[in-house]
Amino acid sequence: MSRPADADALVPPALREAVLAWYSANGRPLAFRAAADPYAVLVSEVMAQQTQAERAGDAWVAFMARWPTVADLAAAPVSDVLRAWAGLGYNRRALALHRAARAIVDQHRGQVPDDLAALEALPGVGRYTARAVAAIAFGRPVGAVDTNVRRVLGRVAGGDCAPLAAGAMQALADAVVPEGRAAAWTHALMDLGAGPCARGEPRCGQCPASDWCRYAAGKRTPDAPSPPARRDPSPSFPSTNRWLRGRVLDRARGAVDGAWRGYADAIGSHPAAAVREAVLALAGEGLLEARETPEGLEARLPS
Ligand code: SF4
Repeated sequence: MSRPADADALVPPALREAVLAWYSANGRPLAFRAAADPYAVLVSEVMAQQTQAERAGDAWVAFMARWPTVADLAAAPVSDVLRAWAGLGYNRRALALHRAARAIVDQHRGQVPDDLAALEALPGVGRYTARAVAAIAFGRPVGAVDTNVRRVLGRVAGGDCAPLAAGAMQALADAVVPEGRAAAWTHALMDLGAGPCARGEPRCGQCPASDWCRYAAGKRTPDAPSPPARRDPSPSFPSTNRWLRGRVLDRARGAVDGAWRGYADAIGSHPAAAVREAVLALAGEGLLEARETPEGLEARLPS
């Protein structure tokens, strides 16, 4: 993708320096921020995809203590990985991360690839996660654009070119990564998007970009429509299918030595038929093993 000719006008070098200085003094002290090992970064980015960053940080510490290398994770039973994911939600990420570890061992000699295409080919690694890993772990000058970064750059550059189409946003994000500071820049934009430039009314008076930001200067255009921010799996409402899936998995997680557990009864306000449907759906996704017995449907974590 070619470099936008007006990248330096939209996101001036002085703004980048100010943002980096702000991050250096005010960045969130997340546990995984000190990690440079590509596997550790990959785990943190997968965890933070849909889970609040602070909570992901706590889980990341425990996860890395248990499986410190990609080979350790690849060799682990998937049931253990699913158990360790308890509380993070969106359990398919655990399954995908486990598969990614196996792919890295089998196809990349145990080294997380630094190539964007190879990263994106890993299970559970999309455009954003691949770029975040490439920038943070390998210092590649690529912009990781999630909802928060899209909002920050959109507001900074807004007025002349907003709302930016996805391709133009990616090109701008790639073009303005400060040389040699890809990791810090990636973290800094994430923290701006979670802090002063969060959804809703931005707190421009607390933002290091305000001297150059077109939104702050009043040259506002409406924010581009964006998908919801990263969803936090809690609180989850007992009436939802998501809640039910979580309870179904929790029951399997609690089984001693991976024993089969029965799912013939209602759970909460969900009738037995809905429980059955949830179990079969989770089994279809590879998150459970299910079997029919004379007593009814049973399931356990996959071995
Ligand atoms: S100055 Fe305001 S609108 Fe611009 S990036 Fe900072 S918080 Fe967001």
